Amino acid sequence: MTSIGVVIVLVALWALAYKPAKAGVWIIGLPVLLIVLQVACLLNLGWALFFWILFAVCISIYLAPVQRRQWISAPLLRQFRKVMPQMSKTEQEALDAGDVWWDGELFSGKPKWDDLLQLPRSELSSEEQAYIDGPVEQLCKMLDDWQITYHDLDLSPAVWDFIKDSGLFGMIIPKSYGGLEFSALAHSTIVMKIASKSITAAVTIMVPNSLGPAKLLLHYGTEQQKEQYLNGLASGKEVPCFALTGPKAGSDAGAIPDLGIVTNGTFNGNKTLGIRLNWDKRYITLAPIATLIGLAFKLEDPDHLLGETEDLGITVALIPSSTKGVETGERHMPLNIPFLNGTTRGKDVFIPMEMVIGGQERIGQGWRMLVDSLSEGRGISLPALSSGAGKMASRYTGAYAAVRQQFGIPIGRFEGIEEPLARIAGMTYQMEAARTLTLTGLDIGENPSVISAIVKYHMTERYRQVINDSMDIQGGSGICLGPANIWGRAYQAIPIAITVEGANILTRSMIIFGQGAIRCHPHVLKELEAIQEDDEKIAVRKFDKVLFNHIIFVMTNIARTTWLGLSHGRLSKQPVSGIAGLYFQRLNWMSAAFALSVDVALMTLGGALKRKERLSARLGDLVSELYIASATLKQFVTNGKLEEELPLMQWAMEDSLYRMQEALRGLFNNLPIRPLAWILRFMIFPTGFRFNRPTDRMDKAAAKLLLQPSRTRDRLTNHIYTSEDINEKVGLLDLAMEAAFAAAPVEKLLSQARHRGEIDGKESHTMIDQALKKGIITQDQADKLQQAEELRDKVIYVDAFKDLRCKATAKPRKKAAKPKPKPTTDPGTP
Ligand SMILES: Cc1cc2nc3c(=O)[nH]c(=O)nc-3n(C[C@H](O)[C@H](O)[C@H](O)COP(=O)(O)OP(=O)(O)OC[C@H]3O[C@@H](n4cnc5c(N)ncnc54)[C@H](O)[C@@H]3O)c2cc1C
Repeated sequence: MTSIGVVIVLVALWALAYKPAKAGVWIIGLPVLLIVLQVACLLNLGWALFFWILFAVCISIYLAPVQRRQWISAPLLRQFRKVMPQMSKTEQEALDAGDVWWDGELFSGKPKWDDLLQLPRSELSSEEQAYIDGPVEQLCKMLDDWQITYHDLDLSPAVWDFIKDSGLFGMIIPKSYGGLEFSALAHSTIVMKIASKSITAAVTIMVPNSLGPAKLLLHYGTEQQKEQYLNGLASGKEVPCFALTGPKAGSDAGAIPDLGIVTNGTFNGNKTLGIRLNWDKRYITLAPIATLIGLAFKLEDPDHLLGETEDLGITVALIPSSTKGVETGERHMPLNIPFLNGTTRGKDVFIPMEMVIGGQERIGQGWRMLVDSLSEGRGISLPALSSGAGKMASRYTGAYAAVRQQFGIPIGRFEGIEEPLARIAGMTYQMEAARTLTLTGLDIGENPSVISAIVKYHMTERYRQVINDSMDIQGGSGICLGPANIWGRAYQAIPIAITVEGANILTRSMIIFGQGAIRCHPHVLKELEAIQEDDEKIAVRKFDKVLFNHIIFVMTNIARTTWLGLSHGRLSKQPVSGIAGLYFQRLNWMSAAFALSVDVALMTLGGALKRKERLSARLGDLVSELYIASATLKQFVTNGKLEEELPLMQWAMEDSLYRMQEALRGLFNNLPIRPLAWILRFMIFPTGFRFNRPTDRMDKAAAKLLLQPSRTRDRLTNHIYTSEDINEKVGLLDLAMEAAFAAAPVEKLLSQARHRGEIDGKESHTMIDQALKKGIITQDQADKLQQAEELRDKVIYVDAFKDLRCKATAKPRKKAAKPKPKPTTDPGTP
């Protein structure tokens, strides 16, 4: 009987923590419960005494704040100060940048799904849509990627002019300054569409619209600077670049050695206070043609011309490249994606103070300005490029797999090919979901720095995966470069996307969780603020308050995690019914598990977690997958929970849940305090690891969607460049797939007739003739077969170059200079 009473008390404690109940409910409810159990003889004296003492201790701690602060909070605060490292200025500034948005909900352990589902999805305005259908479509038609990447190593003059004249450099600039003033969604959609035709062109357009002079001017520029430069930037008269990286400062950009010294000098014949600058930068996109350089440097004031402080910190200035001493250097060649990228140097360049972005008052605020502006652009450009790559792979590698035959059947029907095809389809669905959710956030005015790091890392990694899968499926046709190959350059561009805007390993290991744990956790930032408070009394008071809330938060997460772990999330709240509802319940479980794991890691490792990059990376993976999975479900629900989209949603969710589990498994295996790791594992997965990779059946269903024309395929691959022109590879692929789809039933008739022995022969035209003669198929059906065959032959065409010979076998040439080889035939010509 006593054990029943103990269980009842434990369940009551657990239920109150799960809720979590208000203080009054604990204070009144527990004594009442203990009295009832004692009267009912369900609790013996020993246990009753234990629970009463426990209750008395807790209540005294709660009701005696002065003593609590003195005996508990103050010593704990001293301990915290010892284990938490002091934050550097640059770290503090990075943390202050950007906003907390849906990422805050993910760290709460109990995301408000209704809020997510009620967020109105960002939509293109009619003006934006018209621009995409007009100038963007026209630009895509002008782009000849083989010509750009092999022959010219640059965009053509006509393309450069078109880009500038149509305002593509000014998508983020307000109309009042002559810009397009497009939404984040339109900006991303435009980059995605152009990237699907030419990555070189897309990157060229991305840079002025991302972190660069325009963005910095808009956020921080003086009115005079905006008036002076924004019109020129919008019209393309001014070409900007942004120069931060140099030979000695890459990922650790805060360590730039480029130096500015405050001094008096002469500019345009006038004596003025200014800065003498020396810099050496590399990898700078658009530097070779830039007329305006956004330059980041460290500023010092050794002669105290501005005040007491000598080391003024990172500062950003906007410098015309025509300024005396500026040297536009050599060009780099980024992996055959020849957007203009190169070096810039400055030797004793004197600039007046007015060239500092934001003027003198912004001196030293450069790092904060950069991180703030980066987090916005990072959520747009590379995710757009990645989603575009997924859509290209889904549409055109899917088409190729439907058309290309081996062993007498389309390769897409082999189980081995279904696996990478399903990955392409599922990841494209995930990427599109994450892209549009992030853009929704940006378009309602949020600037979520942790989310932008999540999408930068996880979408470029998925880009890497889908293009690698595409290359496998394309076989030799993906490898041999030429006008007919639409994959080679996308493959070569992968490391660029991985490296720029925060190299991926660094982003995963340090940024996502490192920033998230502090910025998005409901209590950690407040604790850190309390730690850094100089007034001891205020510090203890603040710390006491937040600590108390933090303890309740942990207790709630313990209660939630164990219950959700036991029930696999079932019985928890689901905002929608059906299979999507079930996945929401799984996410309830994983978000509680994540919140608990974060606190366990923070409590056991404290500031050392910063150095334990691999643990930090795993926690980052977990929150990233929570983000991608919540975006996936939002997309599915917003699209109307379509039956035909189920295979994509299911694949995406199973993949994300499996990745969450594996991140947790890695955490359990590597947490230094082993017993704690075992307890954590038992609480989260009491019945063992639950999630698996998508099954073969799921792979088959997702892959099938790429192998035939459908509304779902069109929706999955919308906003990329398509064509109905058979002379363009993408047009040819679409037509060939449609023809193969239309011919499939006739092929079946032919194959059945062959099995019955009514026709024979190996060549398809012989079989078609026989089948026609015997009335097995009609003329119309024969035509369909014929057309599918012809288009298939064209699809499998691979470029070969007559003049591309090995030097050892080439005949000696009289004239050295010869034009670059052209393919033996025009692949597009029917
Ligand atoms: C094509 C191209 C275009 C670019 N455009 C511009 C531009 O317009 N303007 C500009 O200013 N810069 C630009 N960059 C620079 C780009 O931002 C840097 O290349 C990037 O920051 C990485 O620096 P790095 O190449 O020196 O590599 P490194 O910093 O040397 O990094 C090498 C590797 O170490 C990893 N790493 C570094 N620190 C850590 C850590 N603490 N933990 C774990 N891993 C770590 C990185 O993730 C990376 O994998 C461009 C670069 C390229 C290649």
